[in-house]
Amino acid sequence: MLQKMGPAMSNSSTRRHSRLTVIRAVDGCPSFKCQLRGTGEPQGSNGVPDPANFRLEEATLAPGLEEEEVLVRTLYLSVDPYMRCRMNEDSGVEYLTAWKLSESVDGGGVGAVQASRHHAYREGDVVTSFTWPWQTHAVVKGSILQKVNPSLVNGHLSYFLGAVGMTGLTALLGMREKGHVIRGANRTLVVSGAAGACGSVAGQIGRLDGCARVVGICGSQDKCKVLVEVLGFSGAIDYRRQDVVAGLRENCPDGIDVYFDNVGGDISDTVIGQMNEGGHVILCGQISQYNKDVPYPPPLSQETRDNLSRKNITRERFMVLDYVSQAQDALDELGRMVASGQVKVLETIQNGIENMGVAFCSMLKGGNLGKQIVKIFQ
Ligand code: NDP
Repeated sequence: MLQKMGPAMSNSSTRRHSRLTVIRAVDGCPSFKCQLRGTGEPQGSNGVPDPANFRLEEATLAPGLEEEEVLVRTLYLSVDPYMRCRMNEDSGVEYLTAWKLSESVDGGGVGAVQASRHHAYREGDVVTSFTWPWQTHAVVKGSILQKVNPSLVNGHLSYFLGAVGMTGLTALLGMREKGHVIRGANRTLVVSGAAGACGSVAGQIGRLDGCARVVGICGSQDKCKVLVEVLGFSGAIDYRRQDVVAGLRENCPDGIDVYFDNVGGDISDTVIGQMNEGGHVILCGQISQYNKDVPYPPPLSQETRDNLSRKNITRERFMVLDYVSQAQDALDELGRMVASGQVKVLETIQNGIENMGVAFCSMLKGGNLGKQIVKIFQ
């Protein structure tokens, strides 16, 4: 989304913020050239994103507001794994547009309305959007915004980007729609990417919904400790330092019934290899493959395909965007679970819009515990 530029704004409440900071996609970086087409044919090179893929720029907002437009002040921005696909020339999936070189980057954001010419919004409203420009201030169409109620998160507005936002919804609805958990049925749930935004909530939902055992796989000893001691997981495996095969055998003596898959690749092959007959894989994400030129979902090895079919294991793709009609009830439930302390929220907060690229690249490499957020203004 390219922000309109121009002289200072005419209306007094907006003129105060006519200067803004924008993060733009940088021209000529290898990772932006990489393509990930839905055709299954590799196009272009693999690429690991770098903070240098993003450029900070000062700009000036256009004067005044047109009909239906809203001036927002950004409070928090989200960095998410799916954004890696938006760095490719073709995002590879129909529901995501690629970021355009030299234009303002966008993603999940939350902020405050400062001026509005849209009937649904007034100054002071707290609003969120999946296509919030990576800018300190922005003039946006009111149609991209949703109003949110700060009391749902007890004033923790960043939760609207995580546990009471897109990743919390993914965890809750993914478990409920595809996990087939039955209370009292001695189910064992394994979660990969377990210390991240989706994984940390999915494991807690699995426990609350009645799994007898919840085991997390994640990338450090410290993360394992938090999963068990803070979030109530039964066990945790550090895939970087431990043998995952042995760790799963030890932690899942009755085998694995449900697998919430955030990562794909070798970890998922190993988990699926130890799953019970009639088990369920929730195909949430495949982050271990996002820097590669492979289609989504990436192809499975013959051995894993054989395991799935021989043991009659379902492996259905879950897409949170397919459940818009259930979103508000689910967000209300998440808000209640967080408020009551049943679900604990983990966040890693980086300060300053200048650190968007740093936070994004750090998250992709496991630098985050829980949801990675960037605080722009308090
Ligand atoms: P996270 O907060 O989990 O952050 C990403 C984490 O992935 C990192 O912290 C890192 O943790 C882990 N990771 C990175 N590379 C690897 C690797 N090679 N192998 C194993 N783990 C790795 O992100 P989200 O919770 O936002 O997203 C988790 C998954 O869910 C992603 O795959 C994402 O695409 C997917 N998703 C799907 C949605 C849907 O509708 N289906 C919606 C939202 C997210 P560690 O230290 O453990 O390595």
